[in-house]
Amino acid sequence: MRPEGGSGGRPGGAPGDVTVRAGAPASSGDPTERPATLGAALDGAIARLRKSGSDTARLDAELLVAHAVGTDRTGVLAHPEVGLPPHAAEALEEYVARRERGEPVAYIRGIKEFHGLAFTVDARALIPRPDTELLVDIGASRVVAALTAAPRGPGSDRLRVVDVGTGSVAVAVALAAALRRRRILDEIDLLATDVSADALELAVENAAAHGLADAIRFAQADLLPAGEPPFDLVLANLPYVPSGDLPRLPIAASFEPSLALDGGTDGLAAVRRLLGLLPEALRFPGTALLEIGAGEDDGLRAAADRVLPGWELTFHSDLAGIPRVAELAASAEARR
Ligand code: GLN
Repeated sequence: MRPEGGSGGRPGGAPGDVTVRAGAPASSGDPTERPATLGAALDGAIARLRKSGSDTARLDAELLVAHAVGTDRTGVLAHPEVGLPPHAAEALEEYVARRERGEPVAYIRGIKEFHGLAFTVDARALIPRPDTELLVDIGASRVVAALTAAPRGPGSDRLRVVDVGTGSVAVAVALAAALRRRRILDEIDLLATDVSADALELAVENAAAHGLADAIRFAQADLLPAGEPPFDLVLANLPYVPSGDLPRLPIAASFEPSLALDGGTDGLAAVRRLLGLLPEALRFPGTALLEIGAGEDDGLRAAADRVLPGWELTFHSDLAGIPRVAELAASAEARR
């Protein structure tokens, strides 16, 4: 590593101190502040982000340096000796300053990986969380199970699936991509809803980017739009953070739309409203998969007992062992 700021940065500095190597163009701006190599830039960024309180300073810095030079983290780590072009140094300075102020790395890069796919993300919608991959995995296996449970001749009705509160559309796209890989995407009718017009705009962009614009219908609606026949599968990652906890979330969350996080007093306000719609919105033998927050399983069980008597309720835990996805199966008695 070759931190700059020594004599190379001083006009008229001792010539012997200036190191120039291929791929390391001399910085034209203010070299006293500009690290000369990726390695130096990385070290500088890590130090600044640690100081600003990020507990993922190294990862953040690797991602931001890589983004500034247009490569990936591996490229940065494998080639610390490569020079940092001035335009990249400028970009990096902006990215690090934004991260120091608490902005999530995903918004700075404009991209977040979810379920092995890259999604465009910005302040129009929540950044997809790794926890939510569980919702996609269970959803995909329920679709496969439903499609294989009974013989389906040509002309069979497609399985009706809805992603309620789709946000960046990560859940619906990841589900559709998984079904496309299994060549059963044509067997489902997939609707994605959101109350936010901004989120839907981003959702449509992401669906198009994954070649799924024609595979997903979109509707702006508070939970479910009127006039839709009942569904076979309802997926939802609704806002579930208790309002009182919002100020205690990491500062990064303050850059996300609070509409996508704020779940009311106990966090379950939106989820409960959806439960109330399920008797009409889910047909037998249908399933609803609802993501919930840590410690909200008891509250969800109480709400389900009240509005969905006789329905089967199962919780699926995330990798941390926290009940994360509630699965509700419409009871046969509820069949209308
Ligand atoms: N898991 C998110 C968080 O804790 C919340 C997502 C949501 O409300 N659906 O920040």
